[in-house]
Amino acid sequence: MKLSTLACDIAESPTFALNEEARLLKERGEAVINLGIGEPKNKTPIAAVLSSAARLTSGEVKYTPPDGLPSMKKAVIRYTEENYNRLVAPENVIITNGAKQSLFNILYSILNPQDEVIMIAPYWVSYTEMIKMCMGKPVIVTPEDGTFTPNFAEIERAVTSSTRAIIVNSPNNPSGAIYPPELIEKIVNLCERKGIFMICDDIYHKLVFDRNTAVPAYSFTKKDVESSHVIVVNGVAKLYGMTGFRIGWVVGPRELVKVMTNVLAQTTSCVSPVAQAAAEGALNGLQSVVEALRLQIQNNRDVVLQEMKTFNGARLIAPAGTFYALPDLRAFNNNSVEVSRFILKKAMVVTVPGKEFGMEGHIRISFAGSVKDVTEGIARIKWALDPTSPNEIYIGDKKMIRDWM
Ligand code: PMP
Repeated sequence: MKLSTLACDIAESPTFALNEEARLLKERGEAVINLGIGEPKNKTPIAAVLSSAARLTSGEVKYTPPDGLPSMKKAVIRYTEENYNRLVAPENVIITNGAKQSLFNILYSILNPQDEVIMIAPYWVSYTEMIKMCMGKPVIVTPEDGTFTPNFAEIERAVTSSTRAIIVNSPNNPSGAIYPPELIEKIVNLCERKGIFMICDDIYHKLVFDRNTAVPAYSFTKKDVESSHVIVVNGVAKLYGMTGFRIGWVVGPRELVKVMTNVLAQTTSCVSPVAQAAAEGALNGLQSVVEALRLQIQNNRDVVLQEMKTFNGARLIAPAGTFYALPDLRAFNNNSVEVSRFILKKAMVVTVPGKEFGMEGHIRISFAGSVKDVTEGIARIKWALDPTSPNEIYIGDKKMIRDWM
């Protein structure tokens, strides 16, 4: 069969592939624990349920304007004012089918073939594939010092005359790192000086632990939204645990939003008004739901740190935000795909190989699920890899004995 070379070159989403594998194993009755996918286990916030139910019962479920329902845009404008201290106009906002579509449409709207986009490793898997789909070239900057925070000079060195954007995802998937405000400030200044876009993927911006904050890029520019090169991407998937509603949005210059609107109108027409109403409900409703989720996740993070203390050989930089930890397991094997496969085969725990995120030798553990899954999942990983851990364990109701070391 003759298919598009470009499309065939796009990699399968490793998290969705692993999720499917976990589902099939579960269906076969295996006691599998999924620490792969990044998805909070909370129920949809009630304000979101009521708002979308009201829209549904009204029977008014038709196309919306391609850039979003005016009432949903209004909720985003308020959110931007409250959280970013920026007053923006409806023309600066577009509602999309998840933050994923936001990112894809931004890249599609700013890139010409061979244009370069700088990404910082470790990075979210989809960036590279989206850039490739838009015929651009991903340029990866990897921190040299073994941390997850890039050195500014390395980013600056990666800029060429073909650079169109830098993607900054802080708090970061997969490392949980929050970049220091000084670094964000320097990147904003670099982008404004060079006329390149700074795409801030802020999808985890409130999922921060202890006294950490993710300082928004907007705080470091005096330029208004029209002339600034800062573009903000956000959504309800992570902060409200509303992954299935598929609602994201972009705040940016109106010239960009206009082009993105045409791209969206010609591809997906608009976002379902039922889902938009749900997101509107979440944004306008009680924000204590976000804080409750944050506290639960922070508690899970503490459990991860506690459990990892007795994992001999694993090295972990404590996540400051998100719901991911990225331990370094090079003491066991440099090949993260092999490690992940081994953990799944022996311990029935799904993790994601760090290679997918540009961090070979590490694995990503999602701690968005229940404390029980997180505790048991890490105990099983230790059992599979660490010879100093107890050599017997229960997986489901089967007593397992480690006999490979
Ligand atoms: N950006 C990052 C860094 C993410 O981790 C994700 C979801 N895994 C997204 C964007 C996409 O979010 P959404 O579900 O709203 O498309």
